[in-house]
Amino acid sequence: MSELVLTLAAAQGRSTGTWHAVELHRSPSELDGACEVAVCGALARVDAEQVWDGADDDSCEACADLLC
Ligand SMILES: [Zn+2]
Repeated sequence: MSELVLTLAAAQGRSTGTWHAVELHRSPSELDGACEVAVCGALARVDAEQVWDGADDDSCEACADLLC
């Protein structure tokens, strides 16, 4: 595993329920509940309570691939 420089947040797709990774350029508290563009290009709602886990069953495979 390489070290990630960017801070990643978990964001849930509105229709699919899939979790995506979002690169944070602001503090997580400012992003909670906001729609952001995920690493894979999908729109997803950031949940500051959640941590991105690419190995999770509900996680977006495209996001996980792009972050490897
Ligand atoms: Zn994704």
